[in-house]
Amino acid sequence: MRLAVLSQKPELYSTKRLVQAAQQRGHDAVIVDYLRCHMNIASRRPTIVYDGEPLAPLDVIIPRVSASSTFYGTAVVRQLEMMGVYTPSSSQAIARSRDKLRCLQILSRKGVAMPVTAFGHSTQDVRGLIAGVGGAPLIVKLLEGTQGIGVVLCETQKAAESVIEAFRNLDANILVQEFIQEAAGEDVRCFVVGGKVVAAMKRTAAPGEFRSNLHRGGHGEVAKLTPEERSMAVQAAKAMRLGIAGVDIIRSNHGPLVIEVNSSPGLEGIEQATGVDVAGRVVEFVAKDAQSRRQLGHDQ
Ligand code: ADP
Ligand code: MG
Repeated sequence: MRLAVLSQKPELYSTKRLVQAAQQRGHDAVIVDYLRCHMNIASRRPTIVYDGEPLAPLDVIIPRVSASSTFYGTAVVRQLEMMGVYTPSSSQAIARSRDKLRCLQILSRKGVAMPVTAFGHSTQDVRGLIAGVGGAPLIVKLLEGTQGIGVVLCETQKAAESVIEAFRNLDANILVQEFIQEAAGEDVRCFVVGGKVVAAMKRTAAPGEFRSNLHRGGHGEVAKLTPEERSMAVQAAKAMRLGIAGVDIIRSNHGPLVIEVNSSPGLEGIEQATGVDVAGRVVEFVAKDAQSRRQLGHDQ
């Protein structure tokens, strides 16, 4: 099977591991930098030109679209979908997961538990927005932030009012969220592949920090999930229609809550913390799923 990892960064651990895992399983694996692709959108004949040459036919892609290139990256994934190439997560699913508000709205429709969250445009009713999530302390988040950047803890009512007003005056889109204090800087990253949690790691924030992101100095170790957490992670990935997803769960006094669903979850931290060959599980899933979809197509 000819498989491409769509990634801007060949030197990244995740990119290298996926290519290696595919090659170990006998696939012809390449890295395609989607920013170096251009698309010809002719009626019924979509094509991609890569570095000046037509892109050699692919059976499968594993998209690793970076948060800073969502628009272009999802356009390339969409073009490949139109060309009949299999992807575990559609361009639409990737785009939806990038906006925290849209993601939470989809999860809420499917009944997935999450922290109380509010969203508003006007600066006229900041107090109403704050009251809606139960008052301070609370969290303010940029809708398109990643790696913990753009997630702010406001400990008092006054701080919350100023932060919300400042972001709104900059025209930044933010959501306001109940702060799960009892999580004490911990959350659980569940790596979901094809409707199963293949690895889970507990992340603990660095001292004095409430964000557990490994990029913010957090520390990962293997996590033992409850059946409820496991099924919640699977349900969240399914609701977002992501074949591969990193579902972040926070443990609150009233049970587990989903805070985020990532469409390009990193492999380095979780493989190291858990010892699971996550890249291998991803490649095995996409190869099998692509083949079963192809067979279905032939049968029709
Ligand atoms: P990012 O996309 O930047 O990772 P997240 O929404 O995942 O944004 O938040 C980053 C981190 O901040 C989380 O991993 C978690 O440790 C902490 N955090 C986020 N939301 C809350 C919350 N409502 N209560 C407590 N901690 C939170
Ligand atoms: Mg996160």
